[in-house]
Amino acid sequence: MSKETYNHNIKCSICGTSLTDFYINYPGAVCDECDQRAVIGSGRKPRHWSHADDGDNPVFVGRIRCWRYYKFGGWITMRESVRCRTYDEFVDSLIGGRRKRKQRRRPGKAGQP
Ligand SMILES: [Zn+2]
Repeated sequence: MSKETYNHNIKCSICGTSLTDFYINYPGAVCDECDQRAVIGSGRKPRHWSHADDGDNPVFVGRIRCWRYYKFGGWITMRESVRCRTYDEFVDSLIGGRRKRKQRRRPGKAGQP
């Protein structure tokens, strides 16, 4: 079996096309085709600094806000499920969505009253 086998249980969160097993760990993953339409707020293409595994966030596919996980010289684009202001918030929302919500995060941790 090749790595490129499509898993019909995993679908692009925007267009619904089947994705490969690779995306199983990435909730809200976006397919390559949708990802290619991504722009940032000003309408230009998102930048990517592969040497730093960093780049622009969030990105927009049409009007859908997505966040890119920059890793291994590339990235995975994931659709936002709850409104997030920062990438860290987005990561929290992913973890919160997968685990049982036992403890609520208190607003304002370090340095906040
Ligand atoms: Zn798609």
